[in-house]
Amino acid sequence: MSASILDGKAFAATIRGKVATHVAGLKADHGLTPGLAVVLVGEDPASQVYVRSKGKLTTEVGMKSVTHALQADTSQADLLALIDDLNGDETIHGILVQLPLPAHLNEDLVITAIDPAKDVDGFHISNVGLLATGQKSMVPCTPLGCLMLLRDHLGALSGLDAVVIGRSNIVGKPMAQLLLGDSCTVTIAHSRTRDLAQVVARADIVVAAVGRPEMVPGDWIKPGATVIDVGINRIDAPEKGTGKTRLVGDVDFASVAGVAGAITPVPGGVGPMTIACLLANTVTACCRANGLAEPKGLTA
Ligand code: NAD
Repeated sequence: MSASILDGKAFAATIRGKVATHVAGLKADHGLTPGLAVVLVGEDPASQVYVRSKGKLTTEVGMKSVTHALQADTSQADLLALIDDLNGDETIHGILVQLPLPAHLNEDLVITAIDPAKDVDGFHISNVGLLATGQKSMVPCTPLGCLMLLRDHLGALSGLDAVVIGRSNIVGKPMAQLLLGDSCTVTIAHSRTRDLAQVVARADIVVAAVGRPEMVPGDWIKPGATVIDVGINRIDAPEKGTGKTRLVGDVDFASVAGVAGAITPVPGGVGPMTIACLLANTVTACCRANGLAEPKGLTA
């Protein structure tokens, strides 16, 4: 293996440390405690794990954490009423509605109901537009975490060729906007892209956000490229015993690590950065809401 490993777990801990320092300063100097409200509808086990983990880390950095766990059959009107309450609550600076929502709820309407200033997921159409036009916005957490890893490893990204595989609203598109904002030459590849191998082969930076286990092999990668693997896929692992599983990314780690200059592992790469960036966005939102200077290095 020649690639260096981009340790998202360690980097995320550093980000959380910076957030905690800033939170302590806000409390001491301004009597302010940033607050994050997470809304969970239904009992999806994976979502419950994410929400618990978010709550624990929010408290650990000294912020106020509120979780609203609603029944799976909660009506759209009741959910919107809760969001309205949270929009008006001065102790809450960030609101996150855990996705996916049960099928009877309209995700677009729910996200649009969140005050854009409190939209710490960065999914509100206002924040999407601000990001696309290069203005100050709330930036989606996963792409923000990827950008931080890239800047930390590569320094300036200006002029580099970047290929983002995947065009989702939560990862692929905002990732491409962020790389463009840092003056990369950006290509967005997707399920209809012709000759993906050739597209990826010219990239200095590859961000894979597809949701297909180990689909990017080493022989697609330009030697020395930096590879960010966003994918989280659970696959069978018979080698660990009957019925056992393991997590893999969208990148074939073993072969890509032999060619790339640097690579994020799965788990322990992008995943931990996502929650760290959620906390960073909440402290940023609190500062903006109170007309205070934003913490350095925690936004795009
Ligand atoms: P999505 O399903 O919304 O989008 C997948 C994208 O991949 C689509 O735009 C599609 O065009 C593209 N695609 C599908 N097949 C393709 C192919 N054969 N070749 C090229 N492109 C193809 O997924 P998403 O929400 O963007 O998530 C992508 C992956 O990232 C998933 O594994 C998800 O679990 C993971 N994820 C991880 C984090 C994290 O914190 N690490 C956060 C969000 C998503």
